[in-house]
Amino acid sequence: MEELTTREQEDERMVNEAFEHLIDTYLHSHHRKHVEIIRKAFNFAKQAHKGVRRLSGEPYIMHPIAVAQIACENIGLGSTGICSALLHDVVEDTDYTVEDISNLFGPKIAQIVDGLTKISGGIFGNQASAQAESFKKLLLTMSDDIRVILVKISDRLHNMRTLGSQLPNKQYKIAGETLYIYAPIAHRLGLNKVKEELEDLSFRYEHPEEYENLKNKLREMQGSLQDIFDQFTQPIRERLDSVGLKYEIKARIKSPYSIWTKMQVKHIPFEEIYDLYAVRIIFEGTPDAPERERQNAYLIFAIITSLYKFQPGRTRDWIRQP
Ligand code: MN
Repeated sequence: MEELTTREQEDERMVNEAFEHLIDTYLHSHHRKHVEIIRKAFNFAKQAHKGVRRLSGEPYIMHPIAVAQIACENIGLGSTGICSALLHDVVEDTDYTVEDISNLFGPKIAQIVDGLTKISGGIFGNQASAQAESFKKLLLTMSDDIRVILVKISDRLHNMRTLGSQLPNKQYKIAGETLYIYAPIAHRLGLNKVKEELEDLSFRYEHPEEYENLKNKLREMQGSLQDIFDQFTQPIRERLDSVGLKYEIKARIKSPYSIWTKMQVKHIPFEEIYDLYAVRIIFEGTPDAPERERQNAYLIFAIITSLYKFQPGRTRDWIRQP
């Protein structure tokens, strides 16, 4: 009895901490501060899922909180999206109905939760054609309210992050579905970081050895990355400053999944992947003077190629050929 109480207290503390972190993230966003309705959705969902645990052993409510956290932090949704995320499994997993949600939170949130409930089963599996049908419906309602698919993607990302507690055959199925359906949709919606994480997590479960192998190779390189970046960009920065451009330089490292894909498609070993690092220069544009913007883009190109040798065969001009 004693032990149980301690566990409940610990759960309570963990749940509240996760929720306060969500509120904190929301308050730091540019959205209006509709904290009250978010608290209401949290308390309602917590009570609705009471006593239920996920396979990981955590109280179920940790999942909707995590989904709402992704929807807020990674996708930038506001209070309606956050509430829908907190409530997304209530109709599916408890006795409450869409009507209950509508009465308590209004028709908009109810409509989004309804959309999410309709596509909850997955896309493949034993009812493959029925699921494909409901997924088609989902894609068609994307123009109605894009938040349905955005919360669904958040849901999938959290399920992928916690995929380790599922049985292996389920892991495989969910990973495949993620790679073929959710990652491309995330990509189309411009959610590049989310897309990349979905792909890498799928890859990790579909090809664990290759994933570990690449991850280790990338980890070894990580240390030298900052030095290489600083050395490479220093002279570029000097020249860009001297011509008075406003800009930002970002470094990125290729993701394990995209390295692996390239190795497969081109039949080449890791050592022959030459774009492991990429550097992006983003300059402040002049939308009212497109010609000057073009000139500035070519000016930057001229500066870089005066410092570094460029390879004509590996250069693409997205300005002349958009
Ligand atoms: Mn869910």
